[in-house]
Amino acid sequence: MDLAHTPEEEEFRARLRAWLGQVLPTLPPKPSPDDWPGRRAYDLGWQRMLYDAGYGEVHWDASPTTRLIFLEETEKAGAPYVGAGFVGLLHAGPTIAAEGTAEQRERWLPPILRGDQVWCQGFSEPDAGSDLAALRTRARRDGDDYVVTGSKIWTSHAEVADWCELLVRTDPDAPKHRGISWLAMPMDAPGVTVRPLKTLAGSTEFAEVFLDEVRVPVANRVGDENDGWRVTMVTLSFERGTAFVGEVVACRRALRELAVEARKNGRWDDPVLRRRLGRLNAQFKALWRLTQWNVSEAELSGGVPGVGGSVFKLRYSHARQELYDAAADVLGPQALDLDRPWVLDRLSSLSYTIAAGTSQIQRNIVAERILGLPKGR
Ligand SMILES: Cc1cc2nc3c(=O)[nH]c(=O)nc-3n(C[C@H](O)[C@H](O)[C@H](O)COP(=O)(O)OP(=O)(O)OC[C@H]3O[C@@H](n4cnc5c(N)ncnc54)[C@H](O)[C@@H]3O)c2cc1C
Repeated sequence: MDLAHTPEEEEFRARLRAWLGQVLPTLPPKPSPDDWPGRRAYDLGWQRMLYDAGYGEVHWDASPTTRLIFLEETEKAGAPYVGAGFVGLLHAGPTIAAEGTAEQRERWLPPILRGDQVWCQGFSEPDAGSDLAALRTRARRDGDDYVVTGSKIWTSHAEVADWCELLVRTDPDAPKHRGISWLAMPMDAPGVTVRPLKTLAGSTEFAEVFLDEVRVPVANRVGDENDGWRVTMVTLSFERGTAFVGEVVACRRALRELAVEARKNGRWDDPVLRRRLGRLNAQFKALWRLTQWNVSEAELSGGVPGVGGSVFKLRYSHARQELYDAAADVLGPQALDLDRPWVLDRLSSLSYTIAAGTSQIQRNIVAERILGLPKGR
């Protein structure tokens, strides 16, 4: 990737920066973290503004460099992140774009881009997390429908979602990776029950989803029947490879703010803390370069990120935890006050080494697929 920006890219940056300067002051106040309908409306409203201004498709259609400029500028300006649009915009939508039929793309992608619909991800089950292919939610064919029964867990944004990217077992007799299909399930279908789960930080950002004889049209299957594991790998490569990219910029901003706070409250005098922040700064700079490389590689290989996403996800999730541990060091006893900045971020950073595949699983992938080490038993 050429790291120098062309005049067109610089023009894009200047136009975006000017637009952000105009619209950000007009945004309504952010809803409270546990007001999920409010958060849905806020996040979709922001996506709609982006769409109307011509930036709605930047996550999918723009060149890698343009996309990174977009993320840099929106984060620097303090613009909202994708929020409840995470699954639709950053991995279900891109999967449908890569694997769906023309009719499926026409049906599902425009509402995601316009900020009309929220998607959630129904992959994990109580006995199928790291070993996702062990999933047991069963889909039995009945005419033009699948009849789906089973349960999902840790489904982020399920309470406010319109659609679910759902993994089901369509052939219980096939080897476990070969009997899976990828379906788009409407969340308001009869037989879907959502039970919110409370996190350590007190919010109910994910849920259990129970499915009792839910009818999902066969036309909602993305990819061939029983070829869902391959489609799943496409979804996960987006989720690990590019979905967290914007957050690296947010972490770099948090790090700068931490240094300012440390100077104010006297913690800056501690050379150990200064070294720690310096090391983190170097790590996030390196992660940003890795991001550029991954996004650029994805572009070269037809838009689907490769296994390098696991390297990024592994290092990023740990760096994020180290960042918010350093924040606690800067805050001192105030790190116990949930209303202080960074404290909730610190609690939620614990989940980053689990979500989208745990660190152990990412290490297995790096060992086997990048380093070529023998497969573990
Ligand atoms: C914030 C958050 C949001 C999430 N959102 C969603 C969502 O929207 N949709 C969804 O479907 N899922 C979601 N998940 C679930 C997530 O994908 C799973 O938690 C994850 O895949 C791990 O599965 P598990 O929790 O069942 O742990 P387990 O698989 O039971 O793992 C337990 C421990 O064993 C280790 N382990 C397991 N197998 C191996 C192995 N082969 N080698 C080495 N170590 C191993 C793991 O690393 C882990 O430390 C979310 C999780 C979090 C934390």
